[in-house]
Amino acid sequence: KGTQGALLMDKYGVAHIESGAVFRQHVGSGTELGKKAKEYMDRGELVPDEITIPMILDILGKQGDKGWLLDGFPRTSAQAVALDAELSKLGRPLDAALLIDVDPEVIVARLTSRRMCRDCGYIGSAADGDTCPKCGGEMYQRDDDNEATVRNRLDVYETSTSPLIDYYRGCELLVTIDGDRDPNVVYADVKEALDL
Ligand code: AMP
Repeated sequence: KGTQGALLMDKYGVAHIESGAVFRQHVGSGTELGKKAKEYMDRGELVPDEITIPMILDILGKQGDKGWLLDGFPRTSAQAVALDAELSKLGRPLDAALLIDVDPEVIVARLTSRRMCRDCGYIGSAADGDTCPKCGGEMYQRDDDNEATVRNRLDVYETSTSPLIDYYRGCELLVTIDGDRDPNVVYADVKEALDL
């Protein structure tokens, strides 16, 4: 999802509101919120709704008229309900909820070999080596991209996040894309599905 979000942001200039990245920024700058969030992130668990919901709704409230892409939020039913309430208050309903469907074992393989750039956020893989091919920055592995944590993240997804598939299907907003393919092929489908 991060890869597709970055491609869409590069092309359309919409705001990319990525809950995981907001938490990682807090962790990096050592804020109280970051310290609390890191305990959950390192275990592959969700940061509690009481922390996550106000943090994201606050960011949403500060967006102008341009569109935005929410990446990684909502992840629980309570988050989805809170998001609906905020968006109706703002008069900005969702256009679509995108499900990028990937086989769990493919996810384990992708995430355990994923590397990210510390400077520009580029998402690559171990094959990129230590240097970012985009900006020359340092590539690193996220603390939660080890196999045990990734498997826990998948369990948490099944329990807490997958009910949202039915939720958004019920709202007639669900768009499902087969993510078991090359990122550029997936991207072409995402654009078509979103009428871009
Ligand atoms: P991501 O970058 O989307 O893989 O998220 C990394 C981690 O941040 C997750 O495993 C959670 O610990 C936390 N996180 C991100 N988004 C949320 C959310 N919507 N609700 C709760 N925790 C989240």
